[in-house]
Amino acid sequence: MSMTITYEFEGALYVNLTNRCSNDCIFCLRNNHDSVNGEDNLWLDREPQQHEILADFKKRNLSKYTWVVFCGYGEPLMRCHVCIETARWLKENYPHLKIRINTNGQANLIEKRDVTPEFEGIIDAISISLNAASAKRYDELCHSCFGLSAYDGLLDFAEKAKRYVPSVTLSVVNHDITAEEIEQCRTIVENRGLNFRVREYIE
Ligand code: SF4
Repeated sequence: MSMTITYEFEGALYVNLTNRCSNDCIFCLRNNHDSVNGEDNLWLDREPQQHEILADFKKRNLSKYTWVVFCGYGEPLMRCHVCIETARWLKENYPHLKIRINTNGQANLIEKRDVTPEFEGIIDAISISLNAASAKRYDELCHSCFGLSAYDGLLDFAEKAKRYVPSVTLSVVNHDITAEEIEQCRTIVENRGLNFRVREYIE
């Protein structure tokens, strides 16, 4: 049975909560690879329950990590409650840890409410994939189940999250995007007082 719940990547401990996602991006690693950094298969036969996630952490030497990153093959905030409760448990039991969520920024659309106040004091950083400089282009690339409203939804999520999370970064991958679009993205993000980052494409 395949059940890689946590895995090391670039010195951090990553958490794989789900393979589900509200997007179906044309560049998604789920379509192209079956491993990250030679790690075990990250396809979950079923989603781990909370007690299985905590048991997995307890098997690890958590003192050697600074960052825990909710990421995985899929959107961690498809399981918003589990993600936040796991992060809360980590903070309570291992206060030295910093916690980041890598997300498509659609949690408020998924949950149909503003979830961002729940991040306060628990989540240290949120990294959101912006991918495009317009709702239309985002939809062409990401095929969100929320259609054209996904783009404004993720920007709104980012602005709300900034009230409760010390670092909120929106990023684009330097692939299938023009230099002009990157600069448009930078303007969109920085006008909202948020961080912008260009990430390199991983073949
Ligand atoms: S948001 Fe991430 S997990 Fe979801 S389809 Fe896009 S690349 Fe894949």
